[in-house]
Amino acid sequence: MIKKEHILIIILLIIISAFSIAIISLNSADNNTDSNDIYREVLVNDSNETSGTVEVIRNIGNPNGKRIAYVVGVHPLENETHKTLVKLLPNMTNLNYCYDIYIINVTEDIGYYGDGLNNYENPGRQNGQNLAQKYVYPEILNGNYELAIDVHSNIGAYEYKTFVFSPVKEGKSVDYANQVAQNCKNITYYAPPSTTSGPYLTIPLNENGIPAFYYEEYSFAPQDVKDEHMLELINAVDNLNF
Ligand SMILES: [Zn+2]
Repeated sequence: MIKKEHILIIILLIIISAFSIAIISLNSADNNTDSNDIYREVLVNDSNETSGTVEVIRNIGNPNGKRIAYVVGVHPLENETHKTLVKLLPNMTNLNYCYDIYIINVTEDIGYYGDGLNNYENPGRQNGQNLAQKYVYPEILNGNYELAIDVHSNIGAYEYKTFVFSPVKEGKSVDYANQVAQNCKNITYYAPPSTTSGPYLTIPLNENGIPAFYYEEYSFAPQDVKDEHMLELINAVDNLNF
């Protein structure tokens, strides 16, 4: 015959295990919110597009915050700067806004620095611009974003090496880029005379209600400098008021 005490102990054990399970599942729910359910999605793979692929890392930062899109890979040779954003942004905590990073990965005619081509003749640039126009533009246009930032780098032929600018003369994108520059020690507002990629992404975004500006880094800056500048950009963007 089972003693009363034994029954009590068994009941206690059951209650304790039930509580433990509840606590464990609560904790894992918390963890999910902390990591914000960041996920990576393939928008285009190379079976239907020979010039490259397009992916997006979604839901970085505050999942309930306003939404901002970053774009990398429009010009494939500038990938050191692109990788810097993809390395840093998804690991940042306490962000105010919710970020998606669109990643264009040109696989055809990427080219290389010193190939004798003028930077603008590199055919990989056109492939990236086409992928941006065809796949990234409609996603951002219809994605309920407050702002889009197109990340590039340059070989140092401009007046400034690290800068932001809008491809249009006036509007919210000009204001936002100016505010970012004002809040960054190493980033200036400087608009070059023309952009090759503007007509494929940032200009039509601006013209259709989504403010979009460029971030330009110096291609040959050391990695620690690229990191420092990118963190300045990320934090200044995260402190904009919409
Ligand atoms: Zn570029």
